[in-house]
Amino acid sequence: MPLYEYYCKRCDGVFEAMGVISAASAPAPCPVCTRKAGRIPPTSFAAFTMREGYPRAIPDRGTYWHLEKEVKQPLRGSFRPNEHPELTRPEPRRRKSRGEVQIERDKRQAAAKEQKKMLDSGMPIIHDRTGGAGG
Ligand SMILES: [Zn+2]
Repeated sequence: MPLYEYYCKRCDGVFEAMGVISAASAPAPCPVCTRKAGRIPPTSFAAFTMREGYPRAIPDRGTYWHLEKEVKQPLRGSFRPNEHPELTRPEPRRRKSRGEVQIERDKRQAAAKEQKKMLDSGMPIIHDRTGGAGG
C-alpha cells in the first residue's frame, strides 16, 4: 500500500499513513488526536504547517521536513535549500590511480613496520581514530 501524507488541522501537523489506492483521497485518522485528517496532495506538501519554516511532522519527534525528507535539524545559516547536510550524500569516492594505491600500500607497510617496532619496544599502541575511519 502506498504511503500518503496527511495534515491534521487540529494538531497543526503533518503525518504519514498507509492508504488504499482506491481511497487515495480519503481522510486518515490522526495518530495524535485520532481525528480524520485530509490527505495532502504531494505537490502542496510544503504549503502546510511550518515550524521554523519547516512542516511539522506528527507524531512530533522533534524532527523537521526538508524537501519531503525527515531531518533532525532545520537548515540554519547560509546553506542552499537543496544542500541539507543530513540529506546531501558525501561525494562518491574517487577511484584511486595505480600510483596512489602504491603510495597507500607503502604507507600501510611503513605504519605496520612502525607498529611492530613499538610492539617490540613494549610501548603501548595508540590507535589513531581520526584518520582513515571514513566509509
Ligand atoms: Zn490531530
